[in-house]
Amino acid sequence: MLTAQTKSGTIFSLGKEYKKETLLIIRNNEEFFCPACGERVSLKLGNQRIYHFAHRGGTVCRDFYEGETVYHMKGKLQLYQWLERQGIPVALEYYDAKINQRPDIVFHFDGIKYALEYQCSPISEEIFFKRTAAYYEQNYIPLWIMGSKHLKAKRSNVFSLSNFDYFFFRETKDNHLILPSYCPEEKQFKILSSIYPYSIKNALANITHHSIQKTGIEEILSPEIINHFSLAKWSMEMEKFTLNLLLHPSPNLNRFLREIYRHNLNIYLLPPEIGLPVSHSLFIQTPSIIWQTYLYLDVLQDKMPKDLIDLKEVEKHYNKRLIKKEIINRNIPQLTSEGSFSAVKDYFQQLERLGILVRKSETVFQLETSIFIPKSNREKEERRNEFCQKNKFLLAKL
Ligand SMILES: [Zn+2]
Repeated sequence: MLTAQTKSGTIFSLGKEYKKETLLIIRNNEEFFCPACGERVSLKLGNQRIYHFAHRGGTVCRDFYEGETVYHMKGKLQLYQWLERQGIPVALEYYDAKINQRPDIVFHFDGIKYALEYQCSPISEEIFFKRTAAYYEQNYIPLWIMGSKHLKAKRSNVFSLSNFDYFFFRETKDNHLILPSYCPEEKQFKILSSIYPYSIKNALANITHHSIQKTGIEEILSPEIINHFSLAKWSMEMEKFTLNLLLHPSPNLNRFLREIYRHNLNIYLLPPEIGLPVSHSLFIQTPSIIWQTYLYLDVLQDKMPKDLIDLKEVEKHYNKRLIKKEIINRNIPQLTSEGSFSAVKDYFQQLERLGILVRKSETVFQLETSIFIPKSNREKEERRNEFCQKNKFLLAKL
């Protein structure tokens, strides 16, 4: 922890840059206490570690400051000093008695009160949601920033994200979804954007680096997003994923395979229109190829050209799949927008761009051409290559 209470009850913060000599003098003349549990704490002034307060041996603090790593303290301190440098009213480890919570940093910007949590270790879903909800209740906007060391890049533009990682997603004022992270060792923010999950674990995404020296708060809250989405890359990852799908059997997958088999479909012979990249698809945990196949079976397969498709009907089918847990949603605490059905709407919009559907009204589409189902591997390959060539730019406008 970086703050402590003095004997007189004032808060002493290590957020200001003190010289070691000054701190040695202060330490000899002052006693420090934990603002949460009231126990004595020591001011640690080692050469290796960051200057900080620590509970004395034997004391177990009831709530906060457990297992705080140097990485976390360093990041928190740098973030605090970064905000202060910008002239932003900011407090370090401010304890809000109303919600009995102590966000790492509280600051005011643009008329909004933010609770910044710099999170470097996993916490339970329950705690994450509870804290986030408590901040909203007390009129804070939560700003969860992940410790960058948890960001796992598999290949260029391919990231492995756990359910926990998805909790960090937030919406910018231009309605982009971003995951902000910070690395105190490299002194830079790393921000994921343009995220398109293709499996439960993996997603195509864009990453941008922002040096803390050259970046203001505004750029972190609402960075400029340039979408470098590549349909060829998406198609390749999708293909690899489908090939590997059967290596990890599960009851859900078996149920899916049995159902498509009954409809004379084969997982290896699905057309490129099933498994499209779709914005908002992070709201659905089930892989895109599976939920989009279900949509195809429920509302597209039996339709003839000129037939109408009402989104209200689509939603009914979709909800049935949710109830049966054939499609599983992802809860993302900082995103309060409409949720997973917006991904379904985005999918219909993509089909409209491809000329499969024509929009007739706000909620009604007309089938223009049926989706062609390949009969052989060769047919599928040909279709896929042609599709990627033709729609390279069309589908990139996500
Ligand atoms: Zn304590």
